[in-house]
This record gives sequence, C-alpha cells and structure tokens, in this order.
Amino acid sequence: MSKSIFIPFSLTAGILLSCMKGQHVDLVIHNAKIHIMNDANSVEEAMAIRDGKIIEVGPERQILNKYRYDEELDALGKDVYPGLTDAHGHLLMYANQKLGVDLTGAKSMDEVIYRCEKYAAKSSNKFIIGRGWDQSLWSNDSMPTNLKLSKSFPNIPVCLYRVDGHAALVNDYLLKKAKVNSQRVSGGQVSMCNGKPTGILVDNAMDLIAKHLPSYSLNQVKEAILEIQEELFQYGITGVHEAGIDFKHIAMFQSMIQSEKLKIELYAMLMNSPENRSFVEKNGVYQFRNLSIRSMKVFADGALGSRGALLKKPYNDDPHSHGLLLTSVEDMNKVAQFCLKHGYQMNTHGIGDSANALILNIYKNAFQRNPDHRFRVEHAQVIDPIDFAKFAEYAVFPSVQPTHATSDQRWAEKRLGKNRLVGAYAYKSLLKQYGMLAIGTDFPVESTNPFLSIHAAVHRKNGQNEPLNGFLPKEALSFDEVIRGMTIWAAFASFQENKLGSLEKGKQANFVIFDKPMQSQAIFEQNYAWRTFIKGKLVFALDEL
Ligand SMILES: [Zn+2]
Repeated sequence: MSKSIFIPFSLTAGILLSCMKGQHVDLVIHNAKIHIMNDANSVEEAMAIRDGKIIEVGPERQILNKYRYDEELDALGKDVYPGLTDAHGHLLMYANQKLGVDLTGAKSMDEVIYRCEKYAAKSSNKFIIGRGWDQSLWSNDSMPTNLKLSKSFPNIPVCLYRVDGHAALVNDYLLKKAKVNSQRVSGGQVSMCNGKPTGILVDNAMDLIAKHLPSYSLNQVKEAILEIQEELFQYGITGVHEAGIDFKHIAMFQSMIQSEKLKIELYAMLMNSPENRSFVEKNGVYQFRNLSIRSMKVFADGALGSRGALLKKPYNDDPHSHGLLLTSVEDMNKVAQFCLKHGYQMNTHGIGDSANALILNIYKNAFQRNPDHRFRVEHAQVIDPIDFAKFAEYAVFPSVQPTHATSDQRWAEKRLGKNRLVGAYAYKSLLKQYGMLAIGTDFPVESTNPFLSIHAAVHRKNGQNEPLNGFLPKEALSFDEVIRGMTIWAAFASFQENKLGSLEKGKQANFVIFDKPMQSQAIFEQNYAWRTFIKGKLVFALDEL
C-alpha cells in the first residue's frame, strides 16, 4: 500500500524535475568557489552558461537541478574569478620584442652586444631591433654610449630600446642614415658628447630614426601576438587595454579576429596623430566583435629611469634637469576637446608630479563638460601631495602598474629624493580619491604575470620578496582591491562594466579557474590558470601544457 502511494509520488517528482530542468544551457561549472565581484562580494558554487553569456550563478543543487546541459565541469572546489584584464599593456611592442633581441636582465653593455651578435648570427633580417636593457642593473649605471655597438655592427641599422621604451641606443650607421646630429627636438633629447651624438635618443628624439628603421612582416607580428595571447591565457588574462596603436593596426587585429584566432578582449587606445583623429571623426566609438576603440593615448612626459619624467623641482641626481614635456599643454587641451566631442576617453601618460598636475588641470575642464568622462592618467606615478584631491574633484581615473613600484624601488629615491617619495607609487592614496583603480603591468616593460602585480600591490615586494619590509608599505592595496582593479574596475575604466568584469547574470562568460587557491602570502607564490574561458569556450587548460 505504501509502495503504491510512493510510486505516483516519485513520478510526479520526476515530471516536476524534468519541467524544472527544462532550460537548456551549454555549460555548467559546479563544485566551485565563484567570486562574482559584485558589490556584495558574493561567492557562489555553480554557474550556468548559454551562448557565451552567464545565465545564472547560484548554489550547487539549484543550478544542477534547474538546467539541462551539454557539458559540465567539476571545478574541484577551486577559485573562479572573472577573466583578468591587464589595463595597460602593449601587445604590439611585446610582439616586436619577441621578434627582435630580448635584452631584459642584461648585466652589462658587453652582454647587450653578445646577445645582439647571437641574434644576428641566426637571423635573416638585415637589421637589429632590441628591447629591454636597463643601465640601472649595470656596475656603471650612467647612460651607455654606442661606441662598442658601432664597432660590432658598422654596416646594418641597430636600435636598442631601453626597458621603459622611453630611450633608445642607436648605432652610428643608423644615426648617419637618419642624419641625426645635435638638432634640438621638442619633448626629446639627442645626447651629445664632445660635439658628437652618443647614440642615446630620449623620448621624442626617437622619432628621428623611426622611418629609417625596417620593420617585421605582418605575418611575423601576427604570430608573435598569438604567442603572447597564449601566455596571457595561462595567467587567466582575457582582456588587454592596449596602450597605443595606430589606425593601420586596426585592420590587422580585425583580420585576426575574423579568423577567430584573436580571442582576447582588446580595448585599444589610439595614439594622438592626425591620421588616427580622422579615423575617429569617420568612425566614432568603434566596436568590432572583441575589439573596442574609444580612447586616445597621449604622452605628457617621459619616464623616470631615463630622466624624461617632468618634475616640478629638478631631479635629485641631476640638478639641471626637470625632465621633458612631450606634448604641449595647448595640444593636450585640443585632444581633450576632441575626445569629448566624439565620446572618446583621453588616457594620458603622466609620470612626473609636474606632468600629473598639468594633466589634472586639463581634465578639470573635461569634468565641467561631462562629469562621467572617465579620462585616465596612465601611471600617475609621482603626485605632489597637494594634487591628490583633484583626482576626486575632477573624477579622474588612475591607471597604475604595481610592478613599476617594486622595479623602480632600487633607484626611485636617487631620482626623486626622500621627500618626493611621499606621493610616489601611492596607489592607496589614489584609490581613496577616485574609489577605483585600473591595474595593469605595462608589459613588456614588466612581466605579464599578474601574480607579480598582486604581490607588488599587496606586499610592495618583487618576485624575490625585496625589499624586506616592502617599498612604501603604507600605499599597499588589499588583495580584493587588486583583483577589482583587474576585473570590475578595469571594466569601468573601459566603459564595459555592463558586459565584462564580474560574473553576474547577462554578462559575457569570460572567467578563469585558478590552479591553486587565490590568496596573497608574504612569500611570493606563483599561480596559474587551471582553465580559462572566453564567451563560455575553453581557451586554455593547464594540464594540456
Ligand atoms: Zn605603457
């Protein structure tokens, strides 16, 4: 008797369940710790995905019972986050670095030349372009000259960019070809010794050789970019804010997207040039699948390492220099007006305290015309304490790279002096003003590895856990703040907060399941993505490496 009652009951339950299970989805991720990155900071267990979008995030049983699915993935209790965004990187520059000589970490000028000779021996290119040397790592840390370089390579053009990309060491062959002599360059410097160029060109002076420098083939560049994409996927990075391209690169990115090879979300900033401005006039805010263009990149000054950063008072280690203004205030104002007119964002590189003060002043006008302009300062590296409040007052978005702090800590005080360090690499102070930060690496200036950024931001230490007590530790961010800077805040910094940056219903299913638990420990620990997904499709699996 009890059995006959039980059977109809279980049938009903089965029918009910199948009605409830009526909704079909493509993929269910479950047994996970899903960090939604919403305002409530919720963590859920399972997520249903259809047509590349998140349908629902919720408790394990609720999601598994409710949906029919083509595929399910047991996340083994691992941490799931929105796909990370590198809010300031250079795919093109990094591709060029991969195709040329990698000079990162070279310990002397002799090692630089040795690496160039090794490259030349196996390269079919009749030129050498290198990147990554850093004289602050050498026993003699003054800027090098091209003496040895010109001797080793008398008949082909050689151009070797400093690690920050703001100075180049060029051989005599290329200097002669480009007719570089003692000319004055606005926003740049041709370094001279005994009436002769030393081969060092700083900031805008590098334009003198640009058109005399051969370039790689389109296919070589495309292949290198795809290699970089793989590198980013292994860290769970699914988006990059590419900090400076020309309109001619757009067609290349489009063809890579069309062939479904370039899958990463690309928010590209256009360099400020007449050709790029006409692209904006013609196309306005531009979206082509995962390529989004609605910002312009401007350089207010250079970099601290090559003394191109524009400072209010002279350099501590060069009392004759204040640094360089790369774009006039009048021109920066014009770009701001242009951007406001076309619904674009202005992203201005600002390192020195004087450059940052000038930028903030220009952004004040933008704020008066549009309070939600989201104009960014890229780097915001040295701020005069009296200027911090202007970030809040004019709603200026700081875009920072925590690994710059831990790389520069060896010599920042030498350049700036102790007093000026108070407003340097001051990420916590900047966050307090605007309430958000966009966080990136500036690769290839720094590594693409986001775990180094997390360690640098939270513990203010590099991958070797230096310095012992952290560099300016008062400016440390919390782990949650760093992750927000790489996810939801990075989405805000690119007007994409309705589509990216959190794992909420309706958003694009770009997410990463990390291999090891996500935490930040006092001693640096490397982590990787276990699985990376874009639009609900697997793009990287650690065990397939
Ligand atoms: Zn950059």
